[in-house]
Amino acid sequence: DAAGGSKRTSRVRVAVRLRPYMEKQDDKGEGPCVRGLGSQSLEIINWRNSTETLQYQFDAFYGEQTTQQEVFMTSVKPILPHLLNGQNASVFAYGPTGAGKTHTMLGSQEQPGVIPRAVKEVFHLVRAREKDADDWDYTIGMSYLEIYNEKVLDLLSPNTQDLPIREDKDRNILIPGLTHMPLSSLSDFQTHFIPASLNRTTASTKLNHRSSRSHAILLIKVVKSQRIPPHRQQTGKLYLVDLAGSEDNRRTGNQGLRLKESGAINLSLFTLSKVVDSLNTGGGRVPYRDSKLTRLLQDSLGGSAHSVMITNIAPEYKYYFDTFTALNFAAKSKLI
Ligand code: ADP
Ligand code: MG
Repeated sequence: DAAGGSKRTSRVRVAVRLRPYMEKQDDKGEGPCVRGLGSQSLEIINWRNSTETLQYQFDAFYGEQTTQQEVFMTSVKPILPHLLNGQNASVFAYGPTGAGKTHTMLGSQEQPGVIPRAVKEVFHLVRAREKDADDWDYTIGMSYLEIYNEKVLDLLSPNTQDLPIREDKDRNILIPGLTHMPLSSLSDFQTHFIPASLNRTTASTKLNHRSSRSHAILLIKVVKSQRIPPHRQQTGKLYLVDLAGSEDNRRTGNQGLRLKESGAINLSLFTLSKVVDSLNTGGGRVPYRDSKLTRLLQDSLGGSAHSVMITNIAPEYKYYFDTFTALNFAAKSKLI
């Protein structure tokens, strides 16, 4: 790499986004229990003593007024140029169900989120590079998958079963059999991705809230090929991940299938938290192999990759303990 082949591992940037207070989410009329303090910190009521607050600091704090554009510009856009240099990147939305992960990643027609903005920017960067007439040809493609109960499922080819995760001799992670769809334009992407993702989100309410229990992973690949000898090839991968809800399902009395799902979710999320923690504190072995999610992301999280985790939280009291847990994870991942 640029640092002369050093093995230095990059840390994961941690941002926290607080969504607006929603009257209908607050059945007891208690008001918000979280409040921003600036561009990097917030405070939450101390449950041991409600006259006190607990304060947390992160790489970035996005208050309820923060726009989709601002989140994209400050946390995501800066890492995208690395893809054109054959480096990898990943963006995760973490946090309890209802706190704004899908809003942040996917958004809506009126308020598009990180995913449509990032794909648009990748096309923009590639077109600009092509105009510079460098000696490389660029192609963009996507895959879209889900990890559900520790199974890897192809969302662009819905009848496939659990796909294997492999590593090649250069330590690139591969998923043989996963659909790779070449994309010729942004509208090409919208045609294929938006219906598949909306389908997944709406179908989920009937299927045991599956979308809140699975990790939805969009992979955007930029492949560049040298037009002249030695015809080298480089790939930059961008993972855009809407994680499963971080709420503790054991507490809500789930049984049977639900409990099994919770266990699997907790394994992947728990492992992700250990991986991020170990990357950010430089502490020993990084346990990528302990879950499907972290194994899949191994070449795009840490190492020379550029990663950001956006922890989404909600201000209503009914989310209090899930917020508290999410903040402790986010803050622990951040060296204060
Ligand atoms: P999650 O995916 O974490 O379960 P959602 O993204 O579905 O949460 O958000 C829950 C609700 O809150 C949705 O109705 C969503 O539109 C709304 N919401 C989330 N974040 C924001 C925000 N920053 N501004 C406005 N509405 C938001
Ligand atoms: Mg969601």
